[in-house]
Amino acid sequence: MIEIDKTPIETDVLVVGGGIAGLMAAINAAEQGVSVLVAEKANTKRSGSGATGNDHFLCYIPDVHGNDIEPILKETQNSLIGGYHDSTHTIKFLEQSFDRVRDWDAWGISMRPRGKWEFMGHAFPGRPRIWLKYAGHNQKEVLTREAKRRGVIIENHLPITDVITSEGEVIGAIGLSIRQEEPVLKVCRTKSVILTTGSASRLYPAAPSPGWLFNTAFCPSCTGAAQAIAYRADAKLVNMEFPNRHAGPKFLARCGKSSWIGVYKDPHRKPIGPFVTKPTKELGDITSDVWNSVFTDMHRSGRGPAYIDCTETAEEDIEYMLWGMENEGLTAMLNYMEEEGIDVRKHMVEFMQYEPHLIGRGIDIDLNAESSVRGLYAAGDPVGNFRADIAGAATFGWIAGQSAANRAKGLTGFQKAEQNPLVNERACLYSGFVERQYGPSWKEANLALQQIMKDYAGTVVRSETLLKAGLKYFGDLKEKALNTVVASDSHDLMRTMEVLDLMECGEMIFVTALERRETRGLHIRSDFPFTNPLLQDKWITVRKEDGEPKVEWRDKK
Ligand SMILES: Cc1cc2nc3c(=O)[nH]c(=O)nc-3n(C[C@H](O)[C@H](O)[C@H](O)COP(=O)(O)OP(=O)(O)OC[C@H]3O[C@@H](n4cnc5c(N)ncnc54)[C@H](O)[C@@H]3O)c2cc1C
Repeated sequence: MIEIDKTPIETDVLVVGGGIAGLMAAINAAEQGVSVLVAEKANTKRSGSGATGNDHFLCYIPDVHGNDIEPILKETQNSLIGGYHDSTHTIKFLEQSFDRVRDWDAWGISMRPRGKWEFMGHAFPGRPRIWLKYAGHNQKEVLTREAKRRGVIIENHLPITDVITSEGEVIGAIGLSIRQEEPVLKVCRTKSVILTTGSASRLYPAAPSPGWLFNTAFCPSCTGAAQAIAYRADAKLVNMEFPNRHAGPKFLARCGKSSWIGVYKDPHRKPIGPFVTKPTKELGDITSDVWNSVFTDMHRSGRGPAYIDCTETAEEDIEYMLWGMENEGLTAMLNYMEEEGIDVRKHMVEFMQYEPHLIGRGIDIDLNAESSVRGLYAAGDPVGNFRADIAGAATFGWIAGQSAANRAKGLTGFQKAEQNPLVNERACLYSGFVERQYGPSWKEANLALQQIMKDYAGTVVRSETLLKAGLKYFGDLKEKALNTVVASDSHDLMRTMEVLDLMECGEMIFVTALERRETRGLHIRSDFPFTNPLLQDKWITVRKEDGEPKVEWRDKK
């Protein structure tokens, strides 16, 4: 049997994931005077999608934008991160976003690197610009320091696998310490849990290099844990049926489209989109935000490849762009380009559309960041009814920290979470993986899952028959994985748990995609080939009831 640490951890607030949302939640919870523990799978100094930096922070600054928030709200919801927002949440976010900008600036993340608030990129000509250009290369280090300064305990290499509930309320969580070769199961007694485990990568085959599982645009170790943990705890998730695809350089998956200052062009150097014909650092080229599938469409039609052309960008702007890319965490790509003699001043760079992943699809939260399970909060990429990437993670992470601390202050004593039957159940499951002698590895299960997701719940076509067939194969795969996968050490066990979490996400995608009988965005149903106006702003939620998925509808707020 897997080793179980006999002494449970006790903390008022447990933050699951030490990314941007997690660290901001921890900092604010600690400021409220409660005990806070961050359980992080990797190391908070260099983990998650913000690991090596970011450079655009969506925010509303009245001195720059004017006192009317409405145009900024509209611009946000029409931007690449818009689409699936409860407006109530977007407004709360915008109202508080500048406070978080000022916090970061004061703590040493340079939010006005050229001395003033500058908004650049992801912008339409003649419209308000909403993305503050900042220098975020040190953001994880700074946030880790600020959390520790307030007494937050950070446990690195402790992925959380489940929350423990009793009578519909959170009382604890289960984690796997992967510090040593042999995994150790740890139980945490707590009053509030905040899930902030980022996006879900590795659900579909990596488009730039199928088979190279970790060549993903967002953090490859963010694998839908928050969504899966919430689902297993019977919380409600929303908008899971809608795939999301990002784009960037061909074959080397990298986010950061808007750090590039150039114009998207066809092989004849003709601009593809209508928004810019000359490079401008203020606007970037918003074509690929608006026309999400531009690179795929150009390729399929034979009119491709499509490139980003920076060869007409002024030298001063090239310098600015390369500096921005360093802050965006794109140093590996810059090194590679230097080694291979790729010079953006001379060479156009081919772009492509990446595989679907989950971001802004997931846990349904209220305005206090609480899920439908009491004491269970969420923020950042795994939230399903609001999304604003780095800024959304920072702002709603902060809100979640406050709410979780308030709840903890109102409760006396801890419940004995370690006595909950879930602990033994999960211990038996993990033991099965580590004690088994022969069988497939997590990698085989991950690849099989990706094939099923791509062929039966992908972005080319979906239909009732395809989805139902996929669901059947998917069920078979899950059962086989549970009964045969072998994990020879802590690392393998962590990866196995990731695949199981991705499978929970897959199940939610299948059942909600079956329910949405229309075509909308990248949810393309051949049996319902049009977008039904009656389903506009009608959202599908999914939760577990008696162990089975239950889908329901709700109106967007
Ligand atoms: C190269 C790049 C550039 C980007 N540029 C921008 C930009 O300029 N502007 C912008 O708005 N957005 C940008 N993004 C997106 C942005 O980084 C993310 O939206 C943001 O980091 C999300 O924050 P988060 O806290 O939700 O998740 P993350 O910061 O990804 O943190 C999630 C954390 O959870 C941990 N974790 C995962 N599973 C578990 C588990 N089971 N238990 C414990 N811990 C776990 C992970 O290790 C990680 O530390 C970029 C992304 C990338 C990859």
